Amino acid sequence: RAIVRELDRIKEQKPSMGSNAIPTLDVDPSLFDSRFLKKIDDLGEGHFGKVELCIYDPYGDHTGQMVAVKSLKSESDGPESCNLRREISTMRELYHQNIVKYKGICTEEGRTIKLIMEYLPAGSLKDYLPKKKAQISQHRLLLYAMQICQGMDYLGSQNYIHRDLAARNVLVKSETHVKIGDFGLTKSIKNNENYYTVKEEQDSPVYWYAPECLIHRKFYKASDVWSFGVTLYELMTYCDRKCSPPEMFLNMVGPSQGQMTMARLVKALEGGWRLSCPPSCPDMVYTQMRKCWAHAPEDRVDFTHLITVFERLLS
Ligand code: ADP
Ligand code: MG
Repeated sequence: RAIVRELDRIKEQKPSMGSNAIPTLDVDPSLFDSRFLKKIDDLGEGHFGKVELCIYDPYGDHTGQMVAVKSLKSESDGPESCNLRREISTMRELYHQNIVKYKGICTEEGRTIKLIMEYLPAGSLKDYLPKKKAQISQHRLLLYAMQICQGMDYLGSQNYIHRDLAARNVLVKSETHVKIGDFGLTKSIKNNENYYTVKEEQDSPVYWYAPECLIHRKFYKASDVWSFGVTLYELMTYCDRKCSPPEMFLNMVGPSQGQMTMARLVKALEGGWRLSCPPSCPDMVYTQMRKCWAHAPEDRVDFTHLITVFERLLS
């Protein structure tokens, strides 16, 4: 009875603590309750992670929102879990119209964590461009290229290096709006050093990498510029698999070099080999690719300059 009275007194002091008063204003909107997160479809899968389309419907009345949810394939505590946590802490700091929007996280049983982001129904440029080729003009491709540069320029201004810029990691918001995603390999660089040294080598997107990444495992902002050049090449080919960057390289060195492939790639790049101008790609655009592919990082163009070039090409 004493306890009941005590509770009554507290209730009188703090009227909002009553059992039927839901403290909605105190709920952190970036914390998603796993009970209300329902999987609808698979969106993509990498070596360690997967991305799923889910509906988040906390009121259970079908007023919920669609979200994209990234989680690890195996519930582990290993380095992969560390990567996902880093991806989350990167994404939550980025606010730009050309970067996929972070929505929050979902934690389950203390340990596992999921990244909740906005859902872009049209998927990546790699899925979208081959399908919509007939409706997409070259002018439109250049608009996408400029938007990618704007997102990358912002990322660099926040002292991040993406390290995995490729058409598969650029998502389509609308016919005229693309966003950079997949911050799984993104590294923050301290102000006094302008490169990041890679330790893990598995799953490197080597055909998008600049020589210094392959040879010295160093990543600069200018290494992202090289990868942008390869992404621009993909755009201008509408992501045609027959002339994809890996395909073109393997055509050149001959199939199945096995363990030697990486060494051959480095040799070819050092010897000046570059992807050739895609069919019907304007010279002015190929010239920009070549400026992204200067051997020395300091000789490459930067994203700020590329933006002005695309602005000119688009006007
Ligand atoms: P991974 O680290 O496995 O490469 P990504 O973040 O690149 O993970 O996602 C893998 C694929 O899932 C993408 O290429 C894209 O097709 C799809 N995807 C990822 N995020 C979204 C999203 N927010 N909306 C729609 N599709 C997405
Ligand atoms: Mg990816």
